[in-house]
Amino acid sequence: MAGPRIRQAINDIPGYKPGRVPPGGAAFKLSSNENPYPPLPAVLEVLAGAATEINRYPDLAATALVNALSERFGVPVDDIATGTGSVGVAQQLLQATTGPGDEVVYAWRSFEAYPILVQIAGGTSVRVPLTPDARHDLPAMAAAVTDRTRLIFLCSPNNPTGPAIRRDELTEFLDAVPTDVLVVLDEAYREFVTDPEVPDGVDVYRERPNVAVLRTFSKAYGLAGLRVGYVIAPPQVAAAARACAVPFGVSVPAQAAAVASLQAEDQLRARVADLVAERTRVVQALRDAGWEMPETQGNFVWLPIGVGSSEFAATCEAAGVMVRPFEPEGVRITVATPEIDDRFLAVATRPR
Ligand code: PMP
Repeated sequence: MAGPRIRQAINDIPGYKPGRVPPGGAAFKLSSNENPYPPLPAVLEVLAGAATEINRYPDLAATALVNALSERFGVPVDDIATGTGSVGVAQQLLQATTGPGDEVVYAWRSFEAYPILVQIAGGTSVRVPLTPDARHDLPAMAAAVTDRTRLIFLCSPNNPTGPAIRRDELTEFLDAVPTDVLVVLDEAYREFVTDPEVPDGVDVYRERPNVAVLRTFSKAYGLAGLRVGYVIAPPQVAAAARACAVPFGVSVPAQAAAVASLQAEDQLRARVADLVAERTRVVQALRDAGWEMPETQGNFVWLPIGVGSSEFAATCEAAGVMVRPFEPEGVRITVATPEIDDRFLAVATRPR
């Protein structure tokens, strides 16, 4: 007997592959760009309070969180939409803009969810190779735009390679792209950016009618397990993203913890500063050992190993450190605390 018919595009999806989890626990997991620090006590306290309300549905509109974001960024509440992680919000934006026959342009290699989400929406991916120094090739991306292009992802800093898009190149790109194409600036790692030439996406959104800024509580704010993301976009785009949301997709604890994290931002920023200092140390140690790598603005580093990336990852794993291979291109390693990073550096700086 034939079973239910599944859309062919869905049958063809290879599936989202998360970073591997170490068999014995999460002590040396550098494969998912997570924040290595435990939740703040103030956040845990709010979570305990929220736990007493989980027999109730959350606030559909995530009012307290949207208000807190509106105040934090000085943007109207109508320009904000939340979702189940920023990957959930990316899916909402695709559902809102992209259907069969429509095209979505993004750099490759970049965040591995993009091709999957485009396929689910029924659209066609147009991948534009990164430059040899692992940056977005923005002129080539602008040239790839056609009448069918509905959305462009710009991942800045780019996961997994690290470079972020600079102001001048972004201005030139946005000037070249028609304003009926939605440009999604995926800034999952924005808080780790130190290069002053890299614009803040929220400033760009203020000047452009077709720019949406995608942000998350998963990285700098350390709430990956709760799944909260948001977009700041022109009001009709934010409204469309809300319309495409899974109802009640941001849980009671997730909303409460996100608000508490915005209130505790100074403490979280201090942790980000520690991670950025640690990034500098790790990059220097790797360069001293002879590695060549692109400049990184995220909480991770990229070793462009090419063929043999999986083998390098297996060597790290045998030493108790999980890293993320993208065979045959390179390996991405999350920056964590000095103790954990030293475990990785001990393997990576061995004479090869
Ligand atoms: N964008 C980028 C570039 C990412 O690397 C990630 C997570 N790896 C996400 C979005 C999604 O993060 P989340 O769904 O946890 O917000």
